This record gives sequence, C-alpha cells and structure tokens, in this order.
Amino acid sequence: LRGRELRLNEESLALNHVNEQILERVDAATDNMVRSGLDAVSRTGLEVDVTRRRYFLFLVITTGLGFVGVALLMHFQIDRHVIARLSWLSTAMQDVAAGHMDVSLPPAGCSELGRLGAALHLFRETAIEARERESALHASNIRVEQALALVEQKAAELEIANAKLQELSVRDPLTGLFNRRRFDQALTSEWARAGHGGKPLALLVLDLDYFKQYNDRYGHQAGDACLQQVGSILQNHARRAGDVAARFGGEEFCLICPYTNKEQAESIAQSLRQSILDQALPHEDSPFGVVTVSIGYMVATPDATCTSDDLLHLADQALYLAKDKGRNCIQFIETL
Ligand code: GH3
Ligand code: MG
Ligand code: MG
Repeated sequence: LRGRELRLNEESLALNHVNEQILERVDAATDNMVRSGLDAVSRTGLEVDVTRRRYFLFLVITTGLGFVGVALLMHFQIDRHVIARLSWLSTAMQDVAAGHMDVSLPPAGCSELGRLGAALHLFRETAIEARERESALHASNIRVEQALALVEQKAAELEIANAKLQELSVRDPLTGLFNRRRFDQALTSEWARAGHGGKPLALLVLDLDYFKQYNDRYGHQAGDACLQQVGSILQNHARRAGDVAARFGGEEFCLICPYTNKEQAESIAQSLRQSILDQALPHEDSPFGVVTVSIGYMVATPDATCTSDDLLHLADQALYLAKDKGRNCIQFIETL
C-alpha cells in the first residue's frame, strides 16, 4: 500500500506537472488568442475610425460643394432675373428722364419688377405728354411774348403819339409857341405858385402894329411868316425855366415871367420890342417903315384882392395905352 501510495503520489505529481504544463499552454494559448483578438479589434477600430473620418470629410466636401452650387445658382438666377432687369429698369428710367423716349423698356408684368416696368411705361407716357405740353406751352409763351412785345411797342408808339398829340394840343401850329389854352393854364398855375412863394409875376402882352395893313400889302402868307419871326424872337426871350411864351390869338402874343420884378420886366419888354425893330422887316404902310410891336406889361405879387384874370386884363389895358401912345413902345400899368 505504501508503495502504491508512493507511486500514486508520484503519478499525481507527474499529473500535476502535466496539468501545470497544460495550464501553462492553455494560458499561453489564451493569451495569444486574446492578444490576437485584441489586435484584430484594435485594427478594426482603427479602420472604422479612418472610414468615419473619410465619410465625414466626404460629407463636409459634398455639403460645401452643395452650398457653393446653390450659391452660384442663386447668383446666376438673381443676376439674370433681378439685377439685370433692375439695371435695365434703372438705365431705361435715366434715359427717359434725360428725354430719350425711344429706348426699349423692360416688359410690364405682375411681379414686383413687372410692376416697376409697368410704372416705367406709364412714366414714359407721362413724360412724352409733358414734353408735348411743354413744347406747346413754350410755343404759346413765345406767341405771348411776341404779342406782349407788340403791345409794348404799340404802347410806346401810342405814348409817343399821345405825347405828340398833347404837345400839339398845347401848341400854336403857326409859330410853335404855346397856344391860348396852355397860356391860360400856365397863367393860373404860375399865379398860384407866385402866391405861395410871395414872389412877383410879370405878364407882357405884345401886339403887332398896323398888322392889318401888313397883310393887305404883303399878303396873308407874308403875314404868317412875319408872325413866325416875331414868335421866334418872343421864344428867345423866354429864357428862364418858368417863362412861358404863347400866341394869345391873331397877331397878339404873351410872355409870363415868374419871379420877375418891374425893372426886370421892363428890361425884357424893351429888349423884345427892340429885337423885333432890329429885324427891320419892311412895312411900308407903317409910319415906322418896318414891323414894330407895342407891349403892355404888368407886374404883381398875388394876394387875395386880385386874380390872374385881373392881371391879364390890366396887362391888356397897358397894351391899349401903348397903342394910344403911338405904338412901337412899351407901357407899364401901376394900378392893381
Ligand atoms: P393895331 O396897330 O391897332 O394893332 O392895328 P392892327 O391892324 O394890327 O390890328 P387889327 O386888329 O385891326 O388887325 C389885326 C390883323 O391881324 C387882322 C388880321 O388880318 C391879322 N391876322 C390875325 N391873325 C392872323 C394870322 O394868323 N395870319 C395872318 N397873316 N394875319 C392875321
Ligand atoms: Mg395889331
Ligand atoms: Mg390885335
């Protein structure tokens, strides 16, 4: 038994040894299997990772390309359908605004741009209408201006004609001196003015001597020429601004001299008479042998007691006195 036990022990030890060898081999094999399995798993994981990255890159690139494509498409579409039409609209609008009506316009439509196009069509029609109206207005303005110029010209001519007429209406046609009408106005106004200034006014009344005989001998025409010459000399004696020389009627003349005292009036009257005498116009039917004049004159400072009519009346009386004295003389009258 002891021997058996010992053999069994030895066998058991051998079996244990074999068992340990087997376990070692199993462990080694298991390690190898696990390691190779882990390696395989690790490799597979790496491959999966690489594939994932590739797919991700692919996705990114595809998405990017998609975006670029869409952007390009949108760009072309916007450029073609919006920007190009907007640019057309803008250019056409500028052309129409600048007056080029024959440009082609973008088509009208229901879209926003189409409505803009329709508005532009309307704008052009309105602009054409406005231009036609403007040219019609311009033409009518020209006609109005021409008419106004004509009216102005006619008005100026009328004014000149009126002035001439007015001048003629106060002038004596034969001598060119002021006529009786103007004389009456001048005497009234100068008399009033002298009254305001408290200054003396002189009035001379001149009458040709023996003038009926002059006409009878030399004829009416020569008489007229003589009257013109006397009128001219009288006008030359109206030297100051307010002086008024007038033909009173027939062969009778007057001279109004404002701001003139008796001495100055006498000097004027003498000079006038002498100047006419100095003309030595032959008058064979006059005792003087030449044309002469008689002058009555009057000087007064206006006051409440006398009027311009009184002045004229007294100057006339002075003239009669000069005639009575023998003619070819001057006569002053004191009374007033
Ligand atoms: P007195 O010396 O007294 O003044 O005599 P007088 O002959 O000059 O005066 P009267 O009144 O008798 O005659 C005036 C003449 O003046 C009569 C008329 O033939 C003449 N006479 C009047 N007006 C004109 C006129 O416009 N032209 C001419 N040529 N003669 C005129
Ligand atoms: Mg006379
Ligand atoms: Mg007379």
